[in-house]
Amino acid sequence: MSRLRVFITRCLPTDLQPLQQIADVEVWTERRPPPYEILLAKVKEIDGLLCLLSDRIDRQLIEAATSLKVISQMAVGYDNVDVSSATARGIPVGHTPGVLTDATADFTWALLMAAARRIVEADKFTRALQWQTWEPDLLLGADIAGATLGIVGLGRIGQAVARRARGFEMRIIYTSRKRCEPKLEVSLGVEFVSFERLLQESDFVSIHTPLTADTYHLFGASQLALMKPSAILINTARGPIVDPHALYQALSCGQIAGAAIDVTEPEPIPADSPLLSLDNLIITPHIGSASRQTRKKMADIAIENAIAGLQKRRLPYCVNPEVYENL
Ligand code: NAP
Repeated sequence: MSRLRVFITRCLPTDLQPLQQIADVEVWTERRPPPYEILLAKVKEIDGLLCLLSDRIDRQLIEAATSLKVISQMAVGYDNVDVSSATARGIPVGHTPGVLTDATADFTWALLMAAARRIVEADKFTRALQWQTWEPDLLLGADIAGATLGIVGLGRIGQAVARRARGFEMRIIYTSRKRCEPKLEVSLGVEFVSFERLLQESDFVSIHTPLTADTYHLFGASQLALMKPSAILINTARGPIVDPHALYQALSCGQIAGAAIDVTEPEPIPADSPLLSLDNLIITPHIGSASRQTRKKMADIAIENAIAGLQKRRLPYCVNPEVYENL
């Protein structure tokens, strides 16, 4: 019997041996993702695909993958994968929830604090040798203790951010499609409010929903207009949840005080994006989960999912368990 074949779309920060024991593994070793046409050709001859959020796994690609048994994505979000096409073909799709929750919540917190206290601006100011003396009104920022934090999407990462906010004695409000169990609300110290109220009352708004048809441009001009002029927006979820043109307008005319984003639309941010010119915006290159241990854990889970799929076992972390119905 011929060996199973797996394609991995980038070098992973872990040992591939468990996968290599059961399959021939080809790794795309370049720094940038494989071009779509190459990926399309590759999937025609493989049994397993281990991919990243920067790979477009669309219907055409899934339909071309006639021997594909598993799609294993090294990320918790999977908006780049056409899951319904995979489900229609009976292909399980894996992801890596949980292991990146704390790293991403920590990073969200780092962005919130950096934006509130203008740390990036202050660093640039100092390096430009503009620091002349101690000044009573130099680089004034916003208070965090006692402020109101609005969390949009109280899932794993949203909850971890709420736990951090409690340590800073913040008032925490949240919105989600459905309200959490009262027990969870009490233990996190959070209050459920409508999206509109959250926008109006928050000093900091932090986004933690997945990117879906419902959340695409959830933050547009009219939502940003509801926020306080002193408010700061944090996005460590997905870029297209915030309309970049509306964000530029709101930040450049002082409709909101600042923002910090780890994700953009598109990614990477284009060189001519007007967002790059703003001092009241911090932009990082999608590194929310980028701690050494977390990335290794994500890669290990992606491998575990891939092995399970190749062996026709249920994926430990599956986004479309419907594929196992009627088996
Ligand atoms: P999760 O546990 O599934 O939480 C997502 C939350 O969003 C759920 O509570 C969900 O609750 C809520 N939600 C879904 N649709 C919504 C809507 N239309 N309006 C309001 N709330 C909505 O996922 P997670 O592990 O916390 O991850 C969240 C997202 O963070 C991922 O999907 C990923 O895109 C992003 N992420 C980014 C990085 C990074 O590097 N920057 C790292 C990790 C994750 P209901 O379904 O009850 O509404």
